[in-house]
Amino acid sequence: MKYPALIIDLKKIEKNTKAVLKQCEKYGISLTAVSKCYCGMLEIASAQLRGGATMIADSRVKNLKKLSKLTVEKMLIRIPMISEADDVVEYADYSMNSELETIKALSASAVKKGKIHKIIFMIDIGDLREGCLPENALNVIGEIVKLKGVRLDGIGANFGCFGGVMPEYDNLHILVELAKKIKSIYGIDLTIISGGNSFTYTTMVEGQCPKEINHFRLGDILLTGYDTRLMEMVPGAEEDAIVLLCEIVEILDKPSKPIGRIEKDAFGNIPYFEDRGIRKRAIFAVGRQDIRIEEVFPLEKGMEILGASSDHMIVDVTDHKGDLKVGSIVPFRLTYGALLAAFTSEYVEKTFI
Ligand SMILES: *Cc1c(COP(=O)(O)O)cnc(C)c1O
Repeated sequence: MKYPALIIDLKKIEKNTKAVLKQCEKYGISLTAVSKCYCGMLEIASAQLRGGATMIADSRVKNLKKLSKLTVEKMLIRIPMISEADDVVEYADYSMNSELETIKALSASAVKKGKIHKIIFMIDIGDLREGCLPENALNVIGEIVKLKGVRLDGIGANFGCFGGVMPEYDNLHILVELAKKIKSIYGIDLTIISGGNSFTYTTMVEGQCPKEINHFRLGDILLTGYDTRLMEMVPGAEEDAIVLLCEIVEILDKPSKPIGRIEKDAFGNIPYFEDRGIRKRAIFAVGRQDIRIEEVFPLEKGMEILGASSDHMIVDVTDHKGDLKVGSIVPFRLTYGALLAAFTSEYVEKTFI
């Protein structure tokens, strides 16, 4: 086996999906699994479907294309580029949109292909990433409903991705009110009111999600089983569904404080070091090109990650009780940003168990 390696336990991926779904079902919310974090790997998407996800969503058409074998409906969740309209209509049943010009391009492409492409119209309720402002939404929707080849099937919002704004009862309710207006003005009964990503899951668990919200797009929490807002595992989920195995390439006793004059490091930061005397330090053959170091956590006790450069991760292992040596393989848990990087890095092996 080659390292670093992501060990992906498909049974546990399925179990984590079931655990999240069990909570969502109590609130009448259907689950769309977001595959962008794992670059649209068929095996993982299939495990999530076995776990009860009803749809797969991705931000990149290229990933949806990889998943075209799956018979479930697929959704593009990054608002499309006009230049990719044909591929969007080909590989996605739904797309999230905020620009009329883009929806017109999708309409033209769908008419050409003899298809109906379903539109989820994105509303920006404060995070200031994608979405039409609520006060302008009805006007734009008035134009969308005139177009052939596309059908307005839902509205949605996203939270916590640019402005750090969290979903709460009041801002989610803007979606609910808008859906009611769409029904009264245009006579359209939307099938999807999409309340957001893993952050909205927490809002739901806390009982703050309006009952009309019926759809989530979940990436992070389905894979990790970890609720980042509550800082706890979803009941019944496993923390080691995906583990990164790394190999030690050096393990030596060294001073804890660097020797010499300190300037900016390779990433533009001026590091600070506390003098803790001589410590046992292991270097792992993995780095910032493969992971986001702030989101890597040792699964074994007595290890403290000190830092990383592009391809070396330095870990204080003085308090580790095991027999570590050069060549030892050690497991780490990753949260979202590190998983995203590891799946994307061609230097990280991916192994299914
Ligand atoms: C990435 C993304 C998601 C999934 O977010 P998670 O935090 O991984 O659950 C949902 N919706 C949109 C629009 C996204 O871009």
